[in-house]
This record gives sequence, C-alpha cells and structure tokens, in this order.
Amino acid sequence: MKKTIKDINFEGKGVLLRVDFNVPLKDGVVKDDNRIREALPTIKYLIERGARVCLCSHLGKIDFKDAEKTPKDMAKNDMKFVAPKLEELLGQHVYYVDEVYGSKVEETWANLKAGEVMLIQNTRYIKGETKNDETLAKELAKNKDVFVMDAFGSAHRSHSSTYGVAEVLKAEGKETALGFLMEKEVESLSKCVEASEHPYVAVLGGAKVSDKIKVIEALLEKVDKIIVGGAMAYTFLKANGVEVGNSRVELDQLDFAKTCLEKANGKIILPVDHVVADDFENPDVIKPSDINIDEGFMGLDIGDKTIELYKEALSDAKVVFWNGPMGVFEDSRYEKGTRSICEYLASLDSAFTVIGGGDSAAASKQFNCKEKFSHVSTGGGASLEMIENNGVLPGIEVIEDK
Ligand code: ADP
Ligand code: MG
Repeated sequence: MKKTIKDINFEGKGVLLRVDFNVPLKDGVVKDDNRIREALPTIKYLIERGARVCLCSHLGKIDFKDAEKTPKDMAKNDMKFVAPKLEELLGQHVYYVDEVYGSKVEETWANLKAGEVMLIQNTRYIKGETKNDETLAKELAKNKDVFVMDAFGSAHRSHSSTYGVAEVLKAEGKETALGFLMEKEVESLSKCVEASEHPYVAVLGGAKVSDKIKVIEALLEKVDKIIVGGAMAYTFLKANGVEVGNSRVELDQLDFAKTCLEKANGKIILPVDHVVADDFENPDVIKPSDINIDEGFMGLDIGDKTIELYKEALSDAKVVFWNGPMGVFEDSRYEKGTRSICEYLASLDSAFTVIGGGDSAAASKQFNCKEKFSHVSTGGGASLEMIENNGVLPGIEVIEDK
C-alpha cells in the first residue's frame, strides 16, 4: 500500500503538491474547470492541517524543437490563466509566480505562511521536465518537506515534476504520499484492472485503433465482451470483409484487427448498421445504412439496430469500462449512438461504470449523465495505461509504501 496524505502530519510542513491543472483553455479562459475542482479536497486538507503548499502542474504542450513555435506555445499555455480560477474555486488568495524556479519562487516560498497556497508557472516551460531532468527535480524539491502526488492525468509520465522530484526528496529522507484524487482514481480503476467481477464489458470507440491497440489487447484478457463503435469500428469491419465505403479506416491496422478478431473468439461485438453521410462537414445526404456501406458514403455513427444490440450486451454487466465515443457526437446529426449508450450506461444501477477518456467524459457531460457514472476519470491516457500495465504507473510507483 502506498502512503497517502492521511498518513502524514502536515503541521508546519512545506509541501510540494503536483496537481493536474492541464485544463482546456481558449484565449486565456479556462473552458472546463473540472480538473481544478477535483484537486480541491487535497489542497484544502493540507492547508487545514497547517501545511503551506506550493502547487505545480504542466499545462498543454511546448514545442522546443520549433524555435518559432516555442514562444507561441508558452504564451498559450501560461499558468497565469489558471491562477484566478483556482483562487475563485478555493476561496482564498493564491500567490502566483510566473517562473518554475528561481529567486521569485524562493522568495514567495520563504514568506508563505501555514495555510497559504502558491502556484508556479507551467512546469513544461522548462525543457528538461519531460525528460525527467534532475536539475529541475532538485529545484522543485528545494526547501520542501513533503511531496504529494495528486495529478492522476500525468501519473503515466516519468517527468521531473511527477517522478524525479519524489526521488530527490526520498533520497533526502523526506516523505512522499498520494493525494485524495489519486486514491479515488486508483481505487475505481483497480476494478477495471483486476476484473474480479463479471460480466465485465468494455465499450471502445473514438477515432483510432492505433491509439488503443495495447488497451484492446489487455482488455481481451480481462473482459467478457468488447463493444466497438466510433471510427475504430470500420477498421475491424473491413478486416471482416464488410464494405465500409469512405469511412475512416487505418489500413496499416488491418492485420492487427484480423488477429484481434481471431483471438477474441466472439468477444468483440461490431456494429450491424450505421448512420452514414456523403461528406463529413457539408453532407447532401445523411441516411441510415445496413452493415455494408455504399460507395461514396462514410460511417459517422452506429445505427439503431446496433444501439439495441449493444444495450442487450450491456444489460447484465457488473463492471463497464468505457473509452471512446460511438460516433461523431460533437455534431448533433451523429450523436444518437453515443447519447443512447451513454444514457443506458448511466441507467445501469447495479453495474460499476467507469469512463476513461477525455472525449467520452465530455460526451457524458454533454448528455447530462456524468453524475450517474460510478467514476469518471480525470486522466484519459493515464487510465488506459493503468489498464494496459496492470495497475502500474510510474507516478504511483515512485511514492513510498506505508
Ligand atoms: P477519448 O478521448 O474518449 O479516448 P478519442 O479521442 O479516441 O476518445 O476519440 C474521440 C473522437 O472520435 C471524437 O472527436 C469523435 O468525433 C471521433 N469519432 C467518433 N466516431 C467517428 C467516426 N465514425 N468517424 C470519424 N471520427 C469519429
Ligand atoms: Mg480524445
């Protein structure tokens, strides 16, 4: 068992808290504050118990290879946009410093009192962050007594702020622990990893097979059924000899899809009908289609028969893991499949239902179902890797055992 914040006395301690403030921004405005809200229980727990807290997170991507892009990426992914939102949600002042380390950070930290919170600049402003650079890890660890990891969305990364800093502090004899969000994520996703309750059904969809090869392979070992929708379905259907028209197919994944279907021994369930259109953006014709899609048309959602087939397959499930929408749900013309499956999952009272995937989580919100799921993960990639690696993620492993 990993140490959690409940195992530590925080009175008078200086804590570095790694959170996941990698929130969607548009023109400097936080578009979805869910990840900030999810970090609040840990932040409040620490300050109520007499700690002073330095928060750090990455935000978006910074391209250091393209010298023209670097400053633009930095301007776009500036943590200063997150600070006011955090201050509003936390209900107390947040001392924001626009550098990751250096004299301003050190001065603010030295003056910070018990119960106060500071936030530093996007850790990815430092090139070495994603390479687990030791200099950055040491700077982050400087004058800290405890490292708390609560960034589930980054727990699959061995970066300076998720991994290296914990190693530095442990070597100095300092404490490390998981926060409440990490605990909740690990506990919920463990049910999908351990697969001790059956029927266990996975619902997979979204854009690409290639993104999800590893999770499909891992899930085949664990689940009773995999229901496939989204663009991913067309690669599988084509591998089965079905006519898919202009649907999005990954030709280089056809062999994988074939072997997968053979290995699956009937566990993989594919669409039997579709909603198709003659053009993605400006279609003249949108129509229902049976399993074989006409030349010149592309599948953009699962059809009505498939919806019924999938509901039936889910009806007695005890555990459901959902990753990837059933169609192009962002467009109301192709949302029905995702909406129907989402609403059905939300109505399954006796099943443990987990969403792992950014777009699937957004769909559950769009269809007002989010609250009815047992768990909606804050980390898409991290939740997939957790299943792929049988529960092992570097950001968890690096934390000391109790
Ligand atoms: P998640 O974030 O939940 O893991 P993905 O990122 O894999 O999901 O996929 C989400 C995207 O897949 C959505 O933007 C959706 O529009 C797209 N998508 C779903 N079905 C299709 C389809 N039939 N054709 C093209 N794109 C699709
Ligand atoms: Mg996505």
